Amino acid sequence: MSPLISVIAPIFNEGAGVDRFVARLADVLGDAALDYELVLVDDGSSDDSWSRIAHCALVDPRVRGLRLSRNFGKEAALLAGLEHAAGDAVVVIDSDLQHPPSAIPAMVRRWQDGAHVVEAVKRNRAGQGLGNRLGSRLFNRAFTRLTQVDLVDATDFRLLGRPAVEALRRMPEHSTFFRGTSSWIGFTRATVEVDIDHREGGASRWTLRGLFRLAVNGLTSFTSAPLHMVTLAGLAFAVFAVVLGVQTLVRWISGGSVAGFTTVILLLLVTGTFVLIGLGVIGEYLARIHDEVRARPRYLVQERAGAPDSAERRVVEQRAER
Ligand code: UDP
Ligand code: MG
Repeated sequence: MSPLISVIAPIFNEGAGVDRFVARLADVLGDAALDYELVLVDDGSSDDSWSRIAHCALVDPRVRGLRLSRNFGKEAALLAGLEHAAGDAVVVIDSDLQHPPSAIPAMVRRWQDGAHVVEAVKRNRAGQGLGNRLGSRLFNRAFTRLTQVDLVDATDFRLLGRPAVEALRRMPEHSTFFRGTSSWIGFTRATVEVDIDHREGGASRWTLRGLFRLAVNGLTSFTSAPLHMVTLAGLAFAVFAVVLGVQTLVRWISGGSVAGFTTVILLLLVTGTFVLIGLGVIGEYLARIHDEVRARPRYLVQERAGAPDSAERRVVEQRAER
């Protein structure tokens, strides 16, 4: 029996893009004669995405739809997909065709050759503006430096074998960062190179604010380096204060006058800024702890479409066995 491949795609206000995506996937995976199911996760779209998904699920038994009760964000949508996928391997892909579905057969081959996680890395990034590219480059570099989890040229487009999926599902954290967690789990890895296409239809669904939150979540969930930096900066300030104090003392003893109202103001500003930033950094971690402690569900499913959820059936069976 050939293995079942689950393809998970988050969908947020993609409209006509849904049909295009499902058709492309059916083409590519059909040509490669792969046995697959497609799990489309509607992340609280406000357009007709859900009715299109429901329609696709109706005409194609391999398509299943999952509708979240509101917009929970891409990360939560991915998680919902992972938890409802039944395949022996799971492919996570964007639904805007920026991730070329044509790479999936190659990823599956790598998986069959023994890799547990197959990452698509970008050869280029046609679909991004200069600012966006610089921003993500900077973030990825910083993240890689701070956390030892390599994000340079990484994408969310990856294949995970069943053990890797189970490992991910065991991570209970509230604000997830798929690109980070799916690297953190380890497992035998392989990569395939892909060209990131221009977006087909519409603009990026990310807002600057959303991206900033993603960056902060990603960093705070993987490293406490910013906290240590606050400590280090505090130490630097202490050293500076001692040096300045000694110098002033020497000058006072040697009879020089000690003036400098401006210096006082400047120093106050500098220390004030530092204290506020330090507090902010601590606050970010505190907010995360708060989120985790509340332990609210990471997403809520409102509706499903398509064949009964085999992943769910399996969960029920497992519970019954216990
Ligand atoms: N997406 C989502 N929820 C959101 C934002 C985006 O499910 O809140 C989906 C979107 O439909 C697309 C994928 O995530 O399939 C990537 O989004 P986008 O193309 O806007 O991001 P970019 O390619 O600019 O990183
Ligand atoms: Mg995109």
